[in-house]
Amino acid sequence: MKRIALLSAGGTLGAVREDGTETLIPGHDSPDLLDKVPELVRIADIVPRVLFNHDSSNLQPHHWVQVAEAVHRAFTEDDVDGVVVTHGTDTMAYTAAALSLMVRHLPGPVVLTGSQLPFSEVGSDGRRNLLDAFRVATEADLGEVVLVFNGKIIRGSRSKKMRALAYDAFESVGMPLVGTVEADIVLSPHARPRIAGTPVLDTRLADDVCLVKLFPGFHPSLLPTIADSHHGIVLEGFGAGNVPTDELSLVPTIKKVVGSGCHVVLTTQCVFGAAWSDVYKTGLLALESGAIPAYDMNSEAALVKLMWVLGHTTEPEKVRSMMHTDYAGEITARS
Ligand code: ASP
Repeated sequence: MKRIALLSAGGTLGAVREDGTETLIPGHDSPDLLDKVPELVRIADIVPRVLFNHDSSNLQPHHWVQVAEAVHRAFTEDDVDGVVVTHGTDTMAYTAAALSLMVRHLPGPVVLTGSQLPFSEVGSDGRRNLLDAFRVATEADLGEVVLVFNGKIIRGSRSKKMRALAYDAFESVGMPLVGTVEADIVLSPHARPRIAGTPVLDTRLADDVCLVKLFPGFHPSLLPTIADSHHGIVLEGFGAGNVPTDELSLVPTIKKVVGSGCHVVLTTQCVFGAAWSDVYKTGLLALESGAIPAYDMNSEAALVKLMWVLGHTTEPEKVRSMMHTDYAGEITARS
């Protein structure tokens, strides 16, 4: 039997209703889940660990580091073949992006899962998602961080929560699914296979990075104010990575904040598509002012990656080149 670590981090999967109300709060953790899905012990030799038990809206970047260290420890000290992390759905995409950068060269799958309805409630998707996650962790030849949710296997660094309450909560943005879980597990040709050896842990992170969504009427003076207390700004621009360049132009402001040592990365607020930013003059002028295009990284991945990159360097050309390096399948190289 494969040996699998079950790391529990909270979320709806184990949530319970607060006394006398309909409000969900964290409840059960991994040992409880094992009691409730006895089939799991027939699928795998399970090493359960409780990391914390939070609604994922309460997670901060230091929690990503904690999960990354636990994943690394599971492979290096507990000698597991794969890892399942139970986690709230709200910020699962951020944690997945962080894990995919922080623990690389994976000798087995790292699978994040959760649910939209608590495990203990009638009709919950928790049981299926947990069993699917274990099936992927034990059966799939994967050496990457993935989400397993509603039958989809999604690359962690490409995942996005698209639906607040529906069971089909996540989509893969910018690439097809890594695979599907039905009667069989089917992997796509994009799936990255396991890499024999020891995974690399690299959790250096600068968390003074801000994600800002542009809107018509956005006042340029906001950017220098943010740059006073942040070393990086991910700017969610319009369309193909565009910003205002006439009235309330961001062009001189981007130049100013970049000149002051704040790194500006341009993404798009469109869910599908990419911030190429040289398609229109309104994007090109932003690039000429020093903004770094995120290309097809989604905003969650771009934010987490900028934090991680700035944990390694603040040298502008190095930041740019690391932002454009594919570490975990989060970006498509542009020819
Ligand atoms: N608020 C919950 C969380 O992210 C939602 C969920 O798990 O589905 O922890």
